[in-house]
Amino acid sequence: MALTEELAAHIGAANVLSGAAMAPYLPDWTGHYTTAPLAVARPCSTKEVVACVRAAAAAGIPVIPAGGRTGITGALMTTGGLLLSLERMNRIRALKPDARLAVVEAGCILSTLHDAAETQGLYFPLWFGARGSATIGGALSTNAGGSNVLRYGSTRGLCLGLEVVLADGRMLDLMGELHKDNSGYDLKHLFIGAEGTLGVITAAVMRLVAQPAAQATATLALRGLGDALGLLRRLQAATGGAVEAFEYMSPSYMRELARHRPDIRQPFDSIAPCTILVEVAAPTPEAAEAHGDGRRPLDRLLEEALAAMLADGTLIDAEIAGSVAQRRAMWQRRELAAEVMFARKPHIDTDVALPLDRVADFLTAIEPRLAALDPGAEPMAIAHLGDGNIHFTVYPGRDDPALADDVIEIVEELVVGMGGSFSAEHGIGLSKLPSMARRKNPAALDVMRAVKVALDPGNLMNPGKVIPA
Ligand SMILES: Cc1cc2nc3c(=O)[nH]c(=O)nc-3n(C[C@H](O)[C@H](O)[C@H](O)COP(=O)(O)OP(=O)(O)OC[C@H]3O[C@@H](n4cnc5c(N)ncnc54)[C@H](O)[C@@H]3O)c2cc1C
Repeated sequence: MALTEELAAHIGAANVLSGAAMAPYLPDWTGHYTTAPLAVARPCSTKEVVACVRAAAAAGIPVIPAGGRTGITGALMTTGGLLLSLERMNRIRALKPDARLAVVEAGCILSTLHDAAETQGLYFPLWFGARGSATIGGALSTNAGGSNVLRYGSTRGLCLGLEVVLADGRMLDLMGELHKDNSGYDLKHLFIGAEGTLGVITAAVMRLVAQPAAQATATLALRGLGDALGLLRRLQAATGGAVEAFEYMSPSYMRELARHRPDIRQPFDSIAPCTILVEVAAPTPEAAEAHGDGRRPLDRLLEEALAAMLADGTLIDAEIAGSVAQRRAMWQRRELAAEVMFARKPHIDTDVALPLDRVADFLTAIEPRLAALDPGAEPMAIAHLGDGNIHFTVYPGRDDPALADDVIEIVEELVVGMGGSFSAEHGIGLSKLPSMARRKNPAALDVMRAVKVALDPGNLMNPGKVIPA
């Protein structure tokens, strides 16, 4: 029996797509990669995932797990593999307010979990621009970060338990709801960040946190990036560590935003040397209650902290959101970053992590190196500054793959030399395989290969991704 027929017998013919019916599953968000799967399967339960994986393994066909398809490293590309879409496994199995956790299926979209948690006065703190499409399974598989890592950590830190279907079809039940469990190797961490190369995540236990009673959001103009970390430290001290997001937008990003989206209002009359979006949560419920003048103690706290910094010259200007619409507009400026970056071609994108106190050094040191390599290059930086993660993009002077490689090489050399990583939050996929080969510790690569062979001896789980040949 052909694989598609066998799959149809297990999950229903309507959930096995081939030919033109696969069209909605083929576009790559970046527009950079093309894919040609044999078929798309859409199981709706763990049992059905087991059946699909077993059938594909028996036929020797690779399995590529897919979530919201918002990944930007080409990790879903295949020629002749089975795209296993988790979209129908989208249920929230349980919300446990007292235990502050949610038991969710892998295809659950992040914003669905945000909304469900809110009904219980809780918050699922994984937050980034693609939250309306990205899934729990995809976020776990890329160990996604986003804007709130500063306060709540990345996806790995939010995961308590995991259910995984292994390459041979066995179901690995690691769905503990425990905060402490030292019973041997913590196997869930193998699958988090593995980009589907070790198994299919079918469900997870995710931590929830108390819903902040309110947030205060501001856009700040600074004289330079060098002052930003001091400002963050002062805001943390003033709010008892309640800063939730601290995002950097470089002048080149603000210019590119103005060019690409002239409809978006710029925050200040002229573009500042350093623009920061900061969001602070109410440290106590009282801080969120509006007084007679309509202002909340939280707003006053932020205003006072910022006024002191304006007075001593740290800040040039500041705009505090006075309404939900203003807060949304501030976030829109930041969250358009991926769209802005990918709109202009050719571009060379990187996603690097540095120790917090080396970010400014990196951005200063890279400019002359880049200019020496390609005098026509225009760099653009945007950063989750609170956790040292820079999306450093270069618009090169000419469209030349060899030049792109050289640009990536000088960026990575500088990053690694400063104690950083060439991959912060987007994963490896296909796009960073050369960097893995060049930069990853050889012993670490050997261990990864040994793990891969132990769990997937036939190399059928999303082959060719993460680990260089
Ligand atoms: C506008 C925009 C903004 C973004 N902002 C951020 C950001 O701030 N921070 C950040 O970290 N990322 C960001 N991303 C990248 C992307 O959204 C994340 O990588 C996201 O976690 C991917 O989720 P997904 O469901 O779309 O996964 P997909 O793109 O479908 O898959 C990504 C990888 O995970 C694997 N996978 C998916 N589901 C499973 C599963 N159930 N089991 C095993 N493997 C699986 C796939 O095989 C693939 O390797 C952004 C992307 C866009 C388009």
